[in-house]
Amino acid sequence: MTGSGRDLGSVPDLAPNGATPLLEAQGVRVTIGGTEILRHADLRLEAGELVAIVGPNGAGKSTFARAFCGLRKPTGGTVRWSGVDVSTIRGRRLARLRAFVPQRAQVPNGVTVKDAIAIGRSAHLKPLQSFSAADREAIAGATARARLDGMEDRQLNTLSGGELQRVQIAVGLAQGAPVLVADEPTAQLDLGATAAVSELLRDLVHDDYGIVLIVHDLALAAAVADRVVVMSDGRTIATGPPVEVLSKEMIGEVWNVEAELISHEGRSGLHVEWLGRT
Ligand code: ADP
Ligand code: MG
Repeated sequence: MTGSGRDLGSVPDLAPNGATPLLEAQGVRVTIGGTEILRHADLRLEAGELVAIVGPNGAGKSTFARAFCGLRKPTGGTVRWSGVDVSTIRGRRLARLRAFVPQRAQVPNGVTVKDAIAIGRSAHLKPLQSFSAADREAIAGATARARLDGMEDRQLNTLSGGELQRVQIAVGLAQGAPVLVADEPTAQLDLGATAAVSELLRDLVHDDYGIVLIVHDLALAAAVADRVVVMSDGRTIATGPPVEVLSKEMIGEVWNVEAELISHEGRSGLHVEWLGRT
């Protein structure tokens, strides 16, 4: 158990060894009902790195995330977690490798913050196995990381959007995986809550987590990501540092707007020509 709440020791065969990336997806394709939704998607993630996947609505970001997380079987391509083919990893083993925070939170009635985080941890356990001291420590660690101390007994349906999103992240952290994949975690949030979630994600990167953040706000991506991957029409078409990749030309081509990204030391903005296209 490390101070960051991860416990890679329990999956020694899959622990990152430095040479192999935490995640490597190559040429991933997904066909649904005869339509090719994902045509060719690549992604590489190292420990201590936050990669943002950006792209217009319908570009295939969520489909790609579900595919590389092992939640949807790709029609083609390869996905490897610490060198191991995702199609050979199931259940608890997969849960220990990556936590997936979905775009829309399920908020069942009567569930408290504490219960939700414990459910995240139960991904670690065999059926009917009870929590060990290490499990309780992981739950407490995830609660503290997501700054939810003192809120453990609140029902999920009484939380603000930002609080609920932090619970979702804590549920993922309690799994003890070294990678967190979050699909548009800030899409419904106001500025303050967005900043709080962004700060939480950066803290995790600082502690060597690998994070994949799917986000449509380019200014936010530029401020928080070490690297961005641009998706358009079912393909990953570019990757690199945000300011290099999100050029005026790229934004014009992919989003069809005239806009310029300004980014400097955690501050960023997007100057958009909102009305110039008539
Ligand atoms: P993004 O997350 O970038 O907005 P998605 O991955 O959700 O994009 O969707 C990409 C495209 O695939 C969209 O056109 C969407 O309508 C379509 N799509 C996604 N899931 C399904 C599905 N289960 N059945 C049919 N079409 C789907
Ligand atoms: Mg999506």
